Amino acid sequence: MAALRRGESKRPTGAKSDAEGQSRGRFSSSPGLLFVVQKHQGRSLHYDFRLEEHGVLKSWAVPKGPSLDPVVKRLAVAVEDHPLEYADFEGNIPEGQYGAGPVMVWDRGPYTPESSDHAAASLENGELKFVLHGKKLHGSWVLIHTRNNHWLLIKQPDAYASSEDVTRLKPRSVLSGRTLSEIATMGEARRTSNGPGEGEDIQTKQAHQRRQK
Ligand code: MN
Repeated sequence: MAALRRGESKRPTGAKSDAEGQSRGRFSSSPGLLFVVQKHQGRSLHYDFRLEEHGVLKSWAVPKGPSLDPVVKRLAVAVEDHPLEYADFEGNIPEGQYGAGPVMVWDRGPYTPESSDHAAASLENGELKFVLHGKKLHGSWVLIHTRNNHWLLIKQPDAYASSEDVTRLKPRSVLSGRTLSEIATMGEARRTSNGPGEGEDIQTKQAHQRRQK
């Protein structure tokens, strides 16, 4: 599924057929950019929030995970860009490698930058507003730069804002339905029709080795 979206994102927007627009329903205006939130038990538990931008995944580590409550500002620490392929990774980062521990695809889907500018310009300016079309996260969000590599991830008030604790109420993988501890004990990503194949899994691990530090 992610591969399909990536393919679509490379296509000129004008090239979409009407049928395609209809099949994508309310996402029809989306240029097909991908977001993913990976729950990761490294040295400490965090949620890696990643947005596709210029062929890579811009990434932030969010220790407490996203909150649906617009009054809650969640610290998001900018980390290295990751390759797009990493959005498919669910499994265990082996002992001895940076970030060793289980990784879950906690949420994933298309996102749309709210500004007409390219997301890159908004990131340079330290404020990026975007709409998420995930399985768990929806509606309008903003990332605001504060200092150094510190940003804040905040839900914008809209119909999807809520005081419910989404990380507690929806703890399972959107790829496999597993919890993080099940991933830790069961090992490699379950192979599903839209999940990564074995070869891809190895590639994404190598990518992780290259990109993480
Ligand atoms: Mn991480």
